[in-house]
Amino acid sequence: MVQNHEKAIVVGAGMAGLVTARVLSDYFKQIIIVERDTFPDEPVDRTGVPQSFHPHRMLPRGQIILEQFFPGFIDDMLDKGAQPAHLEQTVLVNRHGSIAAQSPDKSASSSRALLEWVIRKRVQQIQNIHIISDTEVTGLTTSDDRQTITGVKTKDRSGPRTEDTLTADLVVDTAGRSSKASRWLEALGYAIPTTERLKVSLGYSTRYYHIPEHMQQEWKSIMSDANPEKGTSTSLLMRIEDNIVMALLFSAGGNHYPSTDPEQFLEEMKEVQAKGLDELLQKLEPLQGPRGYRIQESVRNHFEQMEKWPSGLLVLGDALCSFDPIYGQGMTVAAIEAETVGACLKEQQSNPHPDFERRVFQRIQKAIAPAWWLSSISDLRWDGVEHSDADVLQGAAFAQKYIDLYTKKATKLAVEHNDKSMHGAVFMMNGLILPPREFFNAHILAMLLNDGGSPEELELRAELGEVEPEGYQARIDELIPSFDDAYDERVLGILAAIKQQAGAKS
Ligand SMILES: Cc1cc2nc3c(=O)[nH]c(=O)nc-3n(C[C@H](O)[C@H](O)[C@H](O)COP(=O)(O)OP(=O)(O)OC[C@H]3O[C@@H](n4cnc5c(N)ncnc54)[C@H](O)[C@@H]3O)c2cc1C
Repeated sequence: MVQNHEKAIVVGAGMAGLVTARVLSDYFKQIIIVERDTFPDEPVDRTGVPQSFHPHRMLPRGQIILEQFFPGFIDDMLDKGAQPAHLEQTVLVNRHGSIAAQSPDKSASSSRALLEWVIRKRVQQIQNIHIISDTEVTGLTTSDDRQTITGVKTKDRSGPRTEDTLTADLVVDTAGRSSKASRWLEALGYAIPTTERLKVSLGYSTRYYHIPEHMQQEWKSIMSDANPEKGTSTSLLMRIEDNIVMALLFSAGGNHYPSTDPEQFLEEMKEVQAKGLDELLQKLEPLQGPRGYRIQESVRNHFEQMEKWPSGLLVLGDALCSFDPIYGQGMTVAAIEAETVGACLKEQQSNPHPDFERRVFQRIQKAIAPAWWLSSISDLRWDGVEHSDADVLQGAAFAQKYIDLYTKKATKLAVEHNDKSMHGAVFMMNGLILPPREFFNAHILAMLLNDGGSPEELELRAELGEVEPEGYQARIDELIPSFDDAYDERVLGILAAIKQQAGAKS
């Protein structure tokens, strides 16, 4: 249990580190963020965050949490030149058709570098947070019995490589995918439980273009869904600051990685579900790339299962659980985790619990379970993607067929009857606002199974098995996890308000 609240150290000034430091600033007298990178003078990419070149979207839940901790951050981003995404249409294309959608709320589309810059500037203004740059954390320091983490070992990266130690009552490792927390703990004699792994073998290829002035007014961003059965890539054309378009190709499973050759990149753009992207891109001015990024595994650590865990240590963000980035979950999950730490620290004030750190991990696992499940079931559609424990994702095929048929009906309703009433549900579920249990239910299932015997309906029936309509809910309960406690009162309140708004409009 964290005894004192004098000093906390946060390892890494990425998205998880910045938001966590903001949360801790309400509970600790002093917070030190230790970052290995030099911070650039302008919002540009830095070496410690190599993913920064690629498109970064913030999901609705993440935006809500960031707005709570950094009120007005969207305005800051817009002031800094981010694209006002709520003023622009996005064309969503899938195999059943295309729908133009627009965010009802103010939102900003930007490079990852600009988003991080804005949040970092806010954090730097908080009086009890101090950021040390050019300093790598090289290990943990402990009490003699190794049961308490007392601080970190550091190495200066800018000058003579001086080694030092910093003491703290709480160390939070937010060092991202390159975190060494598990290795350090093992070296200290702790037994790390088996890590859950999704072998995903995914590839990104991103190229930047400038939109010529005469096209800027009419520009629409485009999201073209993958068709994993045919091996068709996802594509995204996203406008960010300075009228730059990030054009992305993505696929998973390892059978094909999107090309980083400029000509081949355009060839592959011809094959995606949205037609004419290659011609559209040829009207723009190429700037940088294509540049690739590959990830072999999504990884979820289960520190909550450890019987022994040292007091004074937490691990958050990608260091705890990393996701397939195509679903845009990583930064939102980092924000959910930081928010959960805040809720646990608040409880701790009135009801101190000796097992504080493990309780934090337990709460976090519940909070992030829907994100892990949603991205995993979606990735499993790709040939070559495998989960390390097949039982964990038992309802995956049913869930995916259900989502596919729902998407088909929602798209047809929008295209043929200009009725977008079904359209928002999958978006809100993937945006981590709508609990899966509200989406997967007997009522919707009955509606889906009335699709004129279409191939999608037959596939869904095959996954459902021989079940009468009265048994639909029980079967869903068997197949779809309940995700108890993953959505707190506040999120459910926001969901209720959205539904009310939608009801008032229709
Ligand atoms: C190609 C790609 C696209 C993505 N797109 C999206 C998206 O659209 N939406 C989304 O939400 N997420 C996206 N993500 C995920 C997102 O980048 C991460 O989930 C998010 O940044 C997690 O934050 P983090 O702080 O855990 O890690 P990071 O942001 O990676 O930060 C880790 C920080 O720790 C520092 N560090 C590492 N080791 C040390 C050390 N020993 N000492 C000191 N400092 C250290 C690093 O320099 C870095 O600053 C994407 C990821 C990839 C790979």
